[in-house]
Amino acid sequence: MGLKACKFGGTSLADANGVRRVAEIVAREPARRYVVVSAPGKREPSDHKVTDLLLASHSLARQGLDFTQPLGMVRDRFRSLAADLGVRLDVRPLLDELEAQVRTEGNRDLIASRGEYLCARIVADFLGARFVDARRAIGVARGRSQVTPDTYPRLRMLLEGEGPVVVPGFYGSDTHGDIVTFPRGGSDITGSVVARAVGAEVYENWTDVPGLLMTDPAVVPEAQPILEVTYRELRELSYMGAKVLHEEATFPVREAGIPIHIRSTWEPDAPGTRVLPSREHGTAPVVGIAGRTGCSTIHIEKAMMNEGRGFGRRVLDILEFHGISWLHAPTGIDTMSVVVWDEELEGKGDAYLADIERILEPDRLELIGDLALLATVGQGMANTVGIAGRLFTSLADAGVNIRMIDQGSSEISIIVAVAAADYSKAVRAIYDAFAGPCRSRA
Ligand code: ASP
Repeated sequence: MGLKACKFGGTSLADANGVRRVAEIVAREPARRYVVVSAPGKREPSDHKVTDLLLASHSLARQGLDFTQPLGMVRDRFRSLAADLGVRLDVRPLLDELEAQVRTEGNRDLIASRGEYLCARIVADFLGARFVDARRAIGVARGRSQVTPDTYPRLRMLLEGEGPVVVPGFYGSDTHGDIVTFPRGGSDITGSVVARAVGAEVYENWTDVPGLLMTDPAVVPEAQPILEVTYRELRELSYMGAKVLHEEATFPVREAGIPIHIRSTWEPDAPGTRVLPSREHGTAPVVGIAGRTGCSTIHIEKAMMNEGRGFGRRVLDILEFHGISWLHAPTGIDTMSVVVWDEELEGKGDAYLADIERILEPDRLELIGDLALLATVGQGMANTVGIAGRLFTSLADAGVNIRMIDQGSSEISIIVAVAAADYSKAVRAIYDAFAGPCRSRA
């Protein structure tokens, strides 16, 4: 029998009803042997995520300020979760230990990880499952999202035997045994690592939406669901803003060819989205359209730029020196532009421009802000004639001016920059061109 690794997100575990649902889903199929949990999330929009409360407690404690309010909220959440579920586990000593850690502990990651730890202890008790602490099993270096290679055999050994087994998401430990967390949302990475370690048939990622949509439903309310997407397509979409799964979570399973199935805890019978090594694209070469506002272009012009050597390298070197990460760098005969997210420029943009001016002495240097980037993604695009034509025609028909175009050599996405004010109009136009009534023109 192929076994399944299932990761449940914070909203699925926000209260006792959520945990009961999770238990039902796990009990439905004995193959669901490995369960990875997040910390309890928000019960309603104005609520707080447990991880945020823990981080707030730690930060106040470090400043010598009163942390009892956020920590009290964490205590209440776990006390009532345990009481409502009627688990045998006594959470009081665990919560006292947490309070002592908040008081004394310098390791922020340790405090941040306690939401997952406590949640996993309670869920394991409720399911009558074994608890395996990620601290013992998952090796991770600070600031990284990848696990150390020795993680896999160790985790496999610890997870062997009868199930179900519950593993807390979001953290592991470094070579000294100190807790290290993944980036925020990183329980998705743990789920992927567990799936790979046990050679799961599928990695089920249970969340609060029934999978991915072809585009942002805030712009296109009727956006169709994506039933199948490849790992690479998903990476392109999530890099550009489609946030259902953590961007780094595909890597561990992708290397082992294990599919991911994104599903909704609230609609467990919905088809969800399958993330696969490859897909039949048929008449739908474009799988999705993702985008974000908040980007800028640094435009540099210098006569005879192409005659010299190393101009582009120096532009990028100066970016690196200032710790600014860039997205695209399209070039012309005497021009080069670098596209960056605005948040990358915050506090560093002026110094960067001053250095470009001083070191490279350009004829023209301009920062063009208020842009949006849009990625039209699909593995079938490379082999289908006319995709770019249809994309640009749709934007022209909608009266949207294109400020930059970049089609990477992978040919699985075409990126365009437009004025931020045109973002919604552009998304709508591209969506209608590829998923709307005229889609049969493919
Ligand atoms: N609890 C962590 C967070 O809120 C990790 C996760 O939920 O995946 O970011």
